[in-house]
This record gives sequence, C-alpha cells and structure tokens, in this order.
Amino acid sequence: MTITGTYIKYYMVCHRKTWLFHHKIEMEHTSELVAEGSFIGEKSYPQRAERYRELLLDGSKIDFYDPNDKVVHEIKKSDKLEHSHVAQVQFYLYLLRKNGIEGATGLIEYPKLRQTQAVRLEVEDIPVVEEWIRDIERIVDSEQCPGRISKSKCRSCSYFDFCYVEESSE
Ligand code: SF4
Repeated sequence: MTITGTYIKYYMVCHRKTWLFHHKIEMEHTSELVAEGSFIGEKSYPQRAERYRELLLDGSKIDFYDPNDKVVHEIKKSDKLEHSHVAQVQFYLYLLRKNGIEGATGLIEYPKLRQTQAVRLEVEDIPVVEEWIRDIERIVDSEQCPGRISKSKCRSCSYFDFCYVEESSE
C-alpha cells in the first residue's frame, strides 16, 4: 500500500479516521474541503504557480515544491490542527530525503491568518516518521475499525455524522 500525506495528517488526528479513509468510506464534504483547500491556494497565490513544481514521490503528491530553494509549501485554511500539518510536511521532507534530495525544508502557510510555520526534518525525526508509517499500516490492515476519539475533538471532522449516526437519530 502507498502511504500518502493525507494518511499522515489523519493519523495525527484520529486512527479511526485513517482507517475509514483507507477503506474508502468517504463523506461527501470531505471532497468539498479538499476543493476548498486548493481554492485557497489558487486564490491566495495566483502569481506563484510558475515558481512551483508538483512532485509525485512514492505515490505521494506534493502540490507546491520550490526546487530552487528546496522548500515544500503547504497551504492550509486554519492552524487548528497544526501538529498534523507539521507531520504531513515532515513526511514530505522524509520522502524527498529518501529520493536523494537532502536539506529541503517546509513552510506551512495560513493565508487567511497571515501566518507561516517553518518545518524541518532532523536526522532524529526519521525513525519517528518511519514509526508513523508502520503504525498506519498496522491500523489500516486491521479488520477492526478503531474506536472514536473524544467527541469534543470531532466537531469539525467530515466523518462526524458517520461516527455519531446513532446519536443523531435518537
Ligand atoms: S468523527 Fe471523531 S472519531 Fe469519527 S473519524 Fe472523525 S475524529 Fe475520528
């Protein structure tokens, strides 16, 4: 199987979400959010497209890579789940390194907040990323869908209706 940045991002938020995504259980507005994400990218940085390359590495797509400065740019709507965004970009830096591109860095951009967050992959982070990958493989290979996380963290999840269907029909 191919682990992509989306797997890493979901894994950092909820193992159940990772499992549902892998098993192709998709909620309608999941794709809407993705569409909105690319819309933010296009609207916020219309003039920058030329500077970037889209990279496909080991089945993972990096939308905005600046080959001159060796910077992965990741554009996000909100910094609410920043730890998962950082992990996603570290995973991309891991893939770049694995494919012979050393010394790349990352920059998460929040155009609506006018904020940025620098991301690095240190040597000691490599086994950590490899452990994420192994753990994701273990989770999605299981026949058992993992349990829900705390409901307070689920409100903005696209799987909310799916996970709480019994409660909403009560
Ligand atoms: S609604 Fe909550 S438990 Fe369900 S997939 Fe989303 S984050 Fe996980």
